Amino acid sequence: MAENHHKVVIIGSGPAGWTAAIYAARANLAPLVLQGTQPGGQLTITTDVENFPGFPEGIMGPELMEKFQAQAERFGTQVIYDTVTEVDVSKRPFKVVADDGTYTADTLIVATGASAKWIGLESEQKLLGHGVSSCATCDGAFFRNKEVLVVGGGDTAMEEANFLTRFCSKVVVVHRRDSLRASKIMQERAFANPKIEFIWDTAVEEIIGSKETGVTSVTLKNLKTDEVKSFPTQGVFVAIGHQPNTSIFEGKLDLHANGYMKVKPGTAGTNVEGVFACGDVIDHHYRQAITAAGTGCMAAMDAEKYLEALEMSVASV
Ligand code: FAD
Ligand code: NAP
Repeated sequence: MAENHHKVVIIGSGPAGWTAAIYAARANLAPLVLQGTQPGGQLTITTDVENFPGFPEGIMGPELMEKFQAQAERFGTQVIYDTVTEVDVSKRPFKVVADDGTYTADTLIVATGASAKWIGLESEQKLLGHGVSSCATCDGAFFRNKEVLVVGGGDTAMEEANFLTRFCSKVVVVHRRDSLRASKIMQERAFANPKIEFIWDTAVEEIIGSKETGVTSVTLKNLKTDEVKSFPTQGVFVAIGHQPNTSIFEGKLDLHANGYMKVKPGTAGTNVEGVFACGDVIDHHYRQAITAAGTGCMAAMDAEKYLEALEMSVASV
């Protein structure tokens, strides 16, 4: 086999990818992790992570991901900073084409995650983790007794807004139209919540603040009247949807209508035998580091079992 052949190639280096690597490496499968453009995944763009078990004092996102990586490398994981542009899973070994090389694999683990959609403001990215967030479950507790804004009008926005009222003194939903996209039940729940207020037909044009002060206000524009005003707030939760990173698998592996990768229920197996998927790329519902790690474990164990069966069938020929 060529030098670039591996029993297990893992695409992605977030909690799912690293956990798959830890399990595969401990099973002596010497996995290769292709890190992609965001080594460590989504948690590297946040500050405190307080809900990952085992860290009672909390841990910074980037530090947590360094620990994941160190644990995977300790057992023989090979790590390459490379981004996959194309896969061929129509024949074996599977072929993975990346920016800096081509790799072949007996099994492939897809752990490419998902990305929050953002409004697209420079200030939004500058203040990410400093008052701007896309995850109320993750960051809501940092906004206890504060007034925050939620941007969006879908179910995610309503869910985030309702959840935030557990901590925040006031939650203002800013939506670009005058009616919500969210399901009726989620709308009713939000309308009935006395801590939630709505600002309609309005876009967030700028987020004001600094890494030292956090968010202090936003600039809002009424899209019907063009009126622009400053609105004081202490946090901005952007809840306008997520996008799974599956574009390179379109037409190659089965995807749901919303782009998330399909796996067989209760397993990490995709529609192609020997290709497994885990983490946010298969999960539009929970989207947590611990659930991503959990399915990463499943993917590696499924891959190990698949390789065992493959070796047995080769031995019996
Ligand atoms: P990701 O972490 O998204 O990692 C995906 C990986 O795939 C990346 O390494 C990327 O480089 C790689 N990749 C993508 N495309 C390619 C490609 N073509 N080739 C090679 N590699 C590729 N969850 C919590 O449990 N607690 C929290 O406190 C928390 N806070 C969060 C704060 C923020 C700001 C955000 C955005 C998310 C937060 N989350 C939190 C959610 C958590 O980060 C995700 O659920 C988790 O990271 C998903 O892990 P994953 O491994 O599936 O994917
Ligand atoms: P969504 O349904 O696509 O809603 C996205 C919302 O964000 C829309 O209101 C949209 O406005 C707004 N938006 C999009 N781009 C924007 C931008 N650039 N600037 C400002 N606003 C923008 O996404 P979602 O809410 O994440 O839901 C995704 C799916 O998951 C849905 O099927 C939903 O039902 C499901 N879900 C269900 C639950 C639940 O049942 N508990 C919870 C969460 C998600 P417009 O309305 O004007 O397009």
